[in-house]
Amino acid sequence: MPELPEVETVRRTLTGLIVGKTIQSVTVSLPRIIQRPDDIRRFEMELAGHRILDVGRRGKFLRIIMDGLVLVSHLRMEGRYGLYRSEDPVEKHTHVIFHFTDGTELRYKDVRQFGTMHLFLPGEEFNHKPLAKLGLEPLDEGFTKEAFRGAIAKRTSKIKPVLLNQEYVVGLGNIYVDEALFRAGIHPEQPANTLSDTALESLYEAILATLNEAVNAGGSSIKSYVNGQGEMGMFQHSLRIYGRQGEPCLNCGQPVEKTVVGGRGTHYCPNCQPSDRTGSSVKAGHGGGNAVKKRFDNVHASSGRSTGNGVKS
Ligand SMILES: [Zn+2]
Repeated sequence: MPELPEVETVRRTLTGLIVGKTIQSVTVSLPRIIQRPDDIRRFEMELAGHRILDVGRRGKFLRIIMDGLVLVSHLRMEGRYGLYRSEDPVEKHTHVIFHFTDGTELRYKDVRQFGTMHLFLPGEEFNHKPLAKLGLEPLDEGFTKEAFRGAIAKRTSKIKPVLLNQEYVVGLGNIYVDEALFRAGIHPEQPANTLSDTALESLYEAILATLNEAVNAGGSSIKSYVNGQGEMGMFQHSLRIYGRQGEPCLNCGQPVEKTVVGGRGTHYCPNCQPSDRTGSSVKAGHGGGNAVKKRFDNVHASSGRSTGNGVKS
């Protein structure tokens, strides 16, 4: 499933491909993709004649902004957009086609058929499903340390499901949550409300670093997205922990483990992400002989707790 960096890459690519074009007509061949309005003929008719002004993003949703309308699109598992000429043969699994007045077409292809599209008047989209209850946007200016702390610090659930919950912070899925927790040295099952201020700060920085790196890596796949048939990479070259079970941890060399947290496959290093964070500072205290660990421990050099938050649960 695409996460924020992949959707952001699609957003940037689409911006270059379709902004300025005017929709002549729309063809829907799989009605279930269209969630709003209920009537797909109305969906097709309402879009005709509108010009695309911009492509935005909210969490993992694309917002195709037109003069007088906004189309909210979620790619879910396998959704793909591609720009074609109208004479190009229509590939299998193409469910929605936006025909432009210049003879090109934006085609939406979805093998799994889980993708969704909702049509709104501008601004209306934020008050309705699926965007209404979304949480903080991690690449926006409003994503400050304080806002992040406010959103998650009181949650009693394990940190991994808290980060996956789109009502607190949007855009993080299974891959980048594992990546961010690894970078921050936090065990995926640690209850969110037991994280120290230092740990929360490390996590905040780790989320930003992970997402920004992946977004930048995504930029390099834009070309293939345009020239190929709308395929986008998952940027696996930049993953440090996800999918590496049994392989040596990039920090300490110990084998990466895989477990299940909140029903999701979860990758972590038991050494770098101890389940008891008070343990990590203890280890740092007498682990002088463990040079490979040092780089990691330095990040948490000040993680000795002065509050009751670190008490073993
Ligand atoms: Zn490790």
